Amino acid sequence: MAECRSCKDEVDELVSVKADGRRIKVCEDCAERLAEEAAIAVMSESAMQDMMGYKGRR
Ligand SMILES: [Zn+2]
Repeated sequence: MAECRSCKDEVDELVSVKADGRRIKVCEDCAERLAEEAAIAVMSESAMQDMMGYKGRR
């Protein structure tokens, strides 16, 4: 058994996900939730850049 780093549940299998630039081991439920949160964070970041007139020149 292993303990999820996010919800502290004991599960058979842990999934390795990237959160805040670190890799953590969480259960599948948390992995899905974290992936969704990460996607939302990326979206709001680009929305913020649009608001400020950021053109993303590279
Ligand atoms: Zn969990």
